Amino acid sequence: MEYLFETQTEEDTKRLANKLALLVKPGDVLTLEGDLGAGKTTFTKGLGAGLGVRRTINSPTFTIVKEYQGEIPLYHMDVYRLENSEEDIGFDEYFQGDGITVVEWASFIEEYLPDERLDIEILRVDEHARKITFLPKGEHFEFICKELYR
Ligand code: ADP
Ligand code: MG
Repeated sequence: MEYLFETQTEEDTKRLANKLALLVKPGDVLTLEGDLGAGKTTFTKGLGAGLGVRRTINSPTFTIVKEYQGEIPLYHMDVYRLENSEEDIGFDEYFQGDGITVVEWASFIEEYLPDERLDIEILRVDEHARKITFLPKGEHFEFICKELYR
């Protein structure tokens, strides 16, 4: 199943991510796809707020991964720089850790991703409108999407 959400503002997108934060559990992996400026990092900011992260979340493009303390830790990855690279920065440690992992540009590390995960695609419709599609892989994420849709 696919679950489509439409947002009209940055705040809408953060609110959706905030709701998601209440449903995820330690060890969950979320992927974010979408062009530059689609809203991947914005979504992650909303998710982090919902997880109780108080520090400002910024794009980890140059560091690849940033860790934040919240009620559940947040591991925020942007693997854009790993396109055409086989480099494994120790992904399993994160994916199997006690935090929520969010991966921007996840298709660049497809071979390392766990089978069970929530894939999220963000499409920029115009300056403010976005189509956000959730593609759950596995029952746990299927359940989460159904809850979000209610
Ligand atoms: P990405 O990480 O995908 O490159 P960012 O989240 O860094 O994208 O940037 C998204 C930009 O689009 C931000 O400047 C944000 O304010 C703007 N924006 C406008 N409308 C929305 C919306 N509905 N959802 C998310 N971002 C939006
Ligand atoms: Mg980004």
